[in-house]
Order: sequence, then structure tokens, then C-alpha cells
Amino acid sequence: MLKGTSGVHRSDDMVVVERHRHQFPSLCLSCGSACAVPDAAPAAPGTRPRVRPPLCPSCRSRRGRAAKIIAIAGLALIIAAPAVFFLLGAVPAVVMLLIGATDVGVAWWLRQAAAGFRTAREDEQYVWIARAHPDFLAALPNWHGMKLHELQSRDG
Ligand SMILES: [Zn+2]
Repeated sequence: MLKGTSGVHRSDDMVVVERHRHQFPSLCLSCGSACAVPDAAPAAPGTRPRVRPPLCPSCRSRRGRAAKIIAIAGLALIIAAPAVFFLLGAVPAVVMLLIGATDVGVAWWLRQAAAGFRTAREDEQYVWIARAHPDFLAALPNWHGMKLHELQSRDG
């Protein structure tokens, strides 16, 4: 366990974060390398504070770049569609529009996924995060509360 870490626990392969009071270890959640912990974003009054686990610049940019390239390709197809309509008719233009729209959708999805983690469950008090790197998990103290599947079956 790294010094200064608090309010962050591991439950098997999940990370359990106390929403209102936590200090992440200075490790990238996605690859486990040393990295700076982001400052907690101040929450707007009346909203739940967002939990932002540390992600190193290379994990962040690698995923972001793919999203950008796909988005640009999609937009280029959409922009070119009217020209194709005049040159080749409606069918290829519609196909281009559909592919372009799909690309932009995929890029949007990638951007969401670029966060590098998946929130498995959240409530007022705790946020459960999946897909953390084993080194990140190893830096956390064990969680002694209910396990995720127990909570889910209780909710169920
Ligand atoms: Zn990383």
C-alpha cells in the first residue's frame, strides 16, 4: 500500500472508491506505471462529485488519438457525401453518410472508453471501478465490506 492512499480499496479485481473522501495512489489505473493523481474536480452544489482515477499521459493520449482519427474520417465522409450525390447518385452518397455517421458514433464511444476504466456500480457513497491494472490493485488495502455480487443480489 502506498503512503497517502485513503478511501480506495480493492475487492478481488475491483476498485472500491469512497466517493466523498478518497486519495488515489499515484499510479496509472490502466497500466500501473507511476503517474500524477488528478486534482479532484470541484462538484457543482447538489451534484455528486465525479471520481477521477489517475491515468498516465500515454494511456490517455493513445486512446484519444484513435478516437480523433476515426472522427475525422467519419466527418470527411459526411462532408464529401453531397459531392458524391451529384457525381454518382443517391445510393453511394447515402452509404457514405451511413458509414460517416457510424464512424463518428464509434469515435464518440472510443472517447467514452478512453477514460480507461469502467464504472461497474455507483451509489451515493461508493464507486466500483473495473479493469484496473494488477499493479494498481496491489497498491490498495483490502475492502472489508460487501462484495459487488453480494450488493447486486441484495439490490436484485
Ligand atoms: Zn498508463
